[in-house]
Amino acid sequence: MIMKGICILGATGSIGVSTLDVVARHPELYNVVALTANTNIGDLFPQCLQHRPETVVIVDADKARQFQEKITGTPISDIEVLSGSAALEQVAVLDNVDSVMAAIVGAAGLLPTLAAAKAGKTVLLANKEALVMSGDIFMQEVAKSGAQLLPIDSEHNAIFQCMPHGYQSGVRAVSARRILLTASGGPFREMPLEQLQHVTPEQAVAHPNWDMGKKISVDSATMMNKGLELIEACLLFNMPSEKIQVVIHPQSVIHSMVDYVDGTVLAQMGNPDMRIPIAHAMAWPERFSSGAEPLNIFDVERLDFATPDLQRFPCLRLAYEAIDAGGIMPAVLNAANEIAVAAFLDGQIRFTGIPQVIERCMKNFSADEAGNLESILQVDRQARDISRKIIQEINS
Ligand code: NAD
Ligand code: MG
Repeated sequence: MIMKGICILGATGSIGVSTLDVVARHPELYNVVALTANTNIGDLFPQCLQHRPETVVIVDADKARQFQEKITGTPISDIEVLSGSAALEQVAVLDNVDSVMAAIVGAAGLLPTLAAAKAGKTVLLANKEALVMSGDIFMQEVAKSGAQLLPIDSEHNAIFQCMPHGYQSGVRAVSARRILLTASGGPFREMPLEQLQHVTPEQAVAHPNWDMGKKISVDSATMMNKGLELIEACLLFNMPSEKIQVVIHPQSVIHSMVDYVDGTVLAQMGNPDMRIPIAHAMAWPERFSSGAEPLNIFDVERLDFATPDLQRFPCLRLAYEAIDAGGIMPAVLNAANEIAVAAFLDGQIRFTGIPQVIERCMKNFSADEAGNLESILQVDRQARDISRKIIQEINS
């Protein structure tokens, strides 16, 4: 392997921190060119001391000014400090950047991730919302530029690893009969249905198997995370939704499977540690160490599998409806979900209000063709406005 330059979008988040942990294990193979954060300069500062990026982006202008003052007179005073969301796109396409880790949460990651794809970078994709929103547009840009797209989401990384030798994202593997997309079922898999309305944000962000950012933790509890992942899988592996079976697998030992026409089922297993898919994608097509504990299969007492209950998890049903409607619907689903999850975390709506807001918002749109990026961004804004109004109505 030769030395590569990496830009980490969302360096201070859960995936960003895990990525830097893997980078630190392979200083001869990865050079950190750029790191970005939204506001969290407290965590960005030690990351900069350790990894010495050339440039950082802090989206918030006040925080960027504070950071500039903070580094003055320190050994890292020569780091270029940029602010504003347009700067995210700028660092994602720098000449000395080979790989871009897309680890911003939500729609905010779309433009820089798309910019990296257009520029033909190796895109390490954690930011599933970006792909769900832009859909075919994103996949077409990848195909056009010849960018290498490698999934970081543990399930999609598992599926990628189970695909035929030499597989490239976006290509339909004709020998694959279906994909088995595993889901832990989150913390409320067995809670009596009538109690779900009383779930607090603290309960919802406490995931049994994975330690993640707040938004994806709530998404895991509603199973919207699996809904977004279903759409992500349709796009990444060029498969229709009916060939993707969601499987509840509470132990999170198998991270997904591919079922082949000859009867072979390939599964990827490992401990639930995001450094495994991150290291896989960073070393691809080779392998290197991730720092994760090796899986001791003798500790795995049993592997359970069940079909999901769509009554318990209406968000998953809404995601199937959105991908089957096609066009702009996945972007509407995503925008409404982002607003509803933020409102839930803020104490404005109940846990069970999340799917209600999304379903009502989706009813305002028809599945027109996705068209271009501008129309997607417009739909995203409209769906957010409508969702905020629905939340006001619920509360009045
Ligand atoms: P997180 O909340 O821990 O981190 C989010 C990062 O994005 C932070 O660095 C933050 O500064 C940045 N950010 C937030 N809002 C921003 C904005 N408006 N503009 C610019 N930057 C912004 O989230 P996470 O858990 O690391 O998840 C990141 C992405 O990876 C999400 O799309 C998530 O679905 C996906 N993912 C995460 C995990 C996991 O284990 N955490 C697993 C699979 C996929
Ligand atoms: Mg996942």
